[in-house]
Amino acid sequence: MKDVYTLADLRNWSGDDAAVRLGVFGDPVEHSLSPKMQNAALEKSGIAARYAAFHIHPEELAEALRLLPARNCIGANLTLPHKVAAAGMVDELETFAAEVGAVNTIRVEGDKLIGFNTDGPGFARAIRHEFWVDLRDLRVLVFGAGGGVGQGIARQCAREGCERLVLVNRDRDKAKQLAEALQPFFKEARVLGPVARLETVERTEAALRFQLANTDLVVNATPLGMKRSDPPVLAESLIAPHLMIYDTIYAPPRTALLKSAVEAGARTANGLSMLLHQGALAFEIWFDRDAPLDAMRAAL
Ligand code: NAP
Repeated sequence: MKDVYTLADLRNWSGDDAAVRLGVFGDPVEHSLSPKMQNAALEKSGIAARYAAFHIHPEELAEALRLLPARNCIGANLTLPHKVAAAGMVDELETFAAEVGAVNTIRVEGDKLIGFNTDGPGFARAIRHEFWVDLRDLRVLVFGAGGGVGQGIARQCAREGCERLVLVNRDRDKAKQLAEALQPFFKEARVLGPVARLETVERTEAALRFQLANTDLVVNATPLGMKRSDPPVLAESLIAPHLMIYDTIYAPPRTALLKSAVEAGARTANGLSMLLHQGALAFEIWFDRDAPLDAMRAAL
């Protein structure tokens, strides 16, 4: 099996490649941890199929997807920048993928491609496993709520009926649009004190200080923290010990945000668990059986 396949490989599929029946399409894709994780799951489950990385450019995506049934593939994952485009290229979308407008998992059924989104549900499972709480019991603040990952997380929080949801985004209009779309989930009143159940705020110290006093879980869904030179997404002085801080970034494993949070006595987790659980849910969609979580986690 090659380290990375291309569209040309898919077009000229040879007998040597027949074992590859699953893969991740991305641009770039070389860094993806999904092949290691999913091949560990396939081996542990005794399934005679392999999962590979495919470097597919945006203009190649439609053809690459249409080749999946012809190559006897079971399905595929999509990563940047293909998730939104793929939603318009599959034959059917499951409900959550349709709501988010993005697909990260495809199941091949005959000649048809069915699109799913396991990022939001994977996040919910990650929070349950990391902090032993359900989203419905939490007041959540999301940084980067207008981005692909942030939107999926915010929609999942809304669907699960979280107590309150605060959306923060550099481009505030995007956060406002999302808040409008999520309004129906927050109609029911809850006993919460002098705060709205759903709002958008600026990333200013004064606004955040007030919001964080009424928040349980803070999520970073921006790329801030991937580089050492990045400014902190949240000033250390604002992090209180009652908070749970989830950074969707997993490389580096401990961002400046997570370091500050540990020092402040808050509970923390990085995005590796979200990666794990979205992958486990994809495995369940393809094979209709539980994913071997321990083997997948060990491979990461
Ligand atoms: P995206 O669609 O490009 O969204 C990026 C978000 O971050 C947007 O809300 C954007 O705000 C905001 N942002 C970008 N640069 C910023 C800055 N300098 N200051 C403030 N906000 C900024 O990206 P994505 O696909 O959602 O990915 C976001 C993060 O999720 C990535 O960094 C990645 O580490 C993480 N991720 C984790 C997993 C996992 O499984 N754990 C999977 C995929 C991605 P605007 O809307 O204003 O541009």
